[in-house]
Amino acid sequence: MPVTERRTPDLNGGDLPPVHTSARIGLLREDLDQAGCDVLMVSDLTNVRYLTGFTGSAGLLLVSADEAVFVSDGRYRDQAGEQLAAAGVDAEVLIVAAEPDAALAARIPAAARRVGLESESVTWASQRRWADLVGPRELVATTGVVSGRRMVKDPGEAARIRTACDIADRAFADLRPMLAEEPTEAAFAAELDAAMRSLGAEDVSFETIVASGPNGAKPHHRPGDRVVRSGDLVVVDFGALFEGYHSDMTRTVAVGEVDDDRWRLLRVVLEAQQAGVEAVAAGVEAQVVDAACRDLIDAAGLGEAFLHSTGHGVGLDIHEEPRVSSRSTATLSAGHVVTVEPGVYLPELGGVRIEDTVLVAEDGCDRLTLTPKDPVLA
Ligand code: ZN
Ligand code: ZN
Repeated sequence: MPVTERRTPDLNGGDLPPVHTSARIGLLREDLDQAGCDVLMVSDLTNVRYLTGFTGSAGLLLVSADEAVFVSDGRYRDQAGEQLAAAGVDAEVLIVAAEPDAALAARIPAAARRVGLESESVTWASQRRWADLVGPRELVATTGVVSGRRMVKDPGEAARIRTACDIADRAFADLRPMLAEEPTEAAFAAELDAAMRSLGAEDVSFETIVASGPNGAKPHHRPGDRVVRSGDLVVVDFGALFEGYHSDMTRTVAVGEVDDDRWRLLRVVLEAQQAGVEAVAAGVEAQVVDAACRDLIDAAGLGEAFLHSTGHGVGLDIHEEPRVSSRSTATLSAGHVVTVEPGVYLPELGGVRIEDTVLVAEDGCDRLTLTPKDPVLA
């Protein structure tokens, strides 16, 4: 299926389309009944941010059929009101000194009998406390209500992810030659992170992975004091954060003289990754994308060395729905943003992983990470 490649016109955010936060609570109300609840207590902070624009570290949101109430504490007295107003969100803001959950429980409408909690972010202790707070009402463990909505990105969200990807592309283009200068993994990672920040990233997406030589056999190796040498494969997995949205890209670079066994790994993973990207389109089951990668790696006799699933959604969280794995039940839709990142890991040779972040389109996908996948270090 067609794979589009387009550069971000403007890295400064000036021309990016707006993110339509204000409509989201209304859309969420349409999902409450199907989720088996009359009101939903949104406690996952990323979900709270998605629905309200609030970026602080403490906040809860109650959504019922007729109203929305947001509660936080005194640290966010000004910020909460400002951010919800800036996002055009129609919710009452409560600031309390203590027990924000109790304050919110007191606002549950009398007619609401079923109170939904987000089962993936509520601890056992917190569930017990909610059971006390809501009295005779029924507590309902909901799953994926807000994250289901978050999967499809609006044009403003997609533009921010594209910008985050563009920052990562530019930083890597600047830094890539440094790999020939025998840096330590940690030094290269630090330079890459600094380059992303200087290009406009508010932070890194996650702790940058630089895994050279034998360290490449560990998919999530932490960069250390090993020196990158000729003959190494170096796995670099990194991303930028831009206005709350993440990017995620991996490239594997061959440094100096790399032997035939390692070249073969590079070739197999590159072909598998390209097959995965080409399989992406609206209406395609996520497990079909996983199989497109996995089948080629299996056919090369390396199936046992592909230690993880093929990809994941990317957005306000670095890992979110939909999952791209052999067990995924998701079907891709236009506006989903997912990664395609097959890899193989062998203790004797090191590792190869190649990852793009792509925006799903009706007839294919739009590749957002555009760094060339050619492993040769120029
Ligand atoms: Zn990654
Ligand atoms: Zn990833």
